Amino acid sequence: MLENQIENSDAAFQLTVLGARGSMPVDGKDFAAYGGATSCYRILAGNEEIYLDAGNGILSAAPNPDTRITILLTHMHLDHIIGLPFFVALGQANRCIDIFAKSRSGLSANEAVDRLISPPFWPLKVGQYPANVTFHELPEESFSIGAVEVDVMEGTHPQGATIYRLTHRGKVLVYATDFEHTPEGCEKLARFAEDCDLLIYDAQYTEEEYPKYRGYGHSTPQVGFDIGTRANAGKILFVHHAPQRTDKQLLAMAQEFAPYADKVIFAKAGDRISV
Ligand SMILES: [Zn+2]
Ligand SMILES: [Zn+2]
Repeated sequence: MLENQIENSDAAFQLTVLGARGSMPVDGKDFAAYGGATSCYRILAGNEEIYLDAGNGILSAAPNPDTRITILLTHMHLDHIIGLPFFVALGQANRCIDIFAKSRSGLSANEAVDRLISPPFWPLKVGQYPANVTFHELPEESFSIGAVEVDVMEGTHPQGATIYRLTHRGKVLVYATDFEHTPEGCEKLARFAEDCDLLIYDAQYTEEEYPKYRGYGHSTPQVGFDIGTRANAGKILFVHHAPQRTDKQLLAMAQEFAPYADKVIFAKAGDRISV
């Protein structure tokens, strides 16, 4: 099964899906097409190289040699930071890496990452690698990464999760993973994502499964499609696939959206999407 390729080297955003699995990495022949690595998306926006989350998908990243790298973390759950210690750029002296995340459960981003990635769980802290790493508390108002404007919204998720809206050269990309829909949350997200060119949305559960997992902090493709439609999103990329979901099952979920194939994509590791 081929990856989705909507490429344009002049695009405002060139996104590569490095990992779209939710909650826990998986491996094996049943997961080969969609991929088993957890949340990580690489974005090139002009001179900026931005990573959305640092799940183990980040292991397949091949950063450009001279870019300043920014990592925007949605939250500190394992599946979103577990790839950090193996990110190739951390081993590169002279490389600058800025990591942004909101303080959660009373810990700053640096404290939370150090709590997991430090002895006895791992030999080194992120700050002890050769690269020059700076942690930043996520601003509450919009801020800029070079020419990319960043807005944030807090979503509904255990311990919370940040939703990002990136704007560059008039194009807009929204990353809404680990988001559980509530009536107010859907309304707020539809406004936050208004007229975006790409909405990346948490589609972990089917409609049938969702009632069993209420409160786990995730959503469904149908709700994502509704929000994307209300927001007038150009394309919707469904991500955070449930760990047990096989290629066959994901394909069946995708086929339900066949009439909207020009708009809806179920993310596979390796997908490249330009907007
Ligand atoms: Zn997650
Ligand atoms: Zn989470």
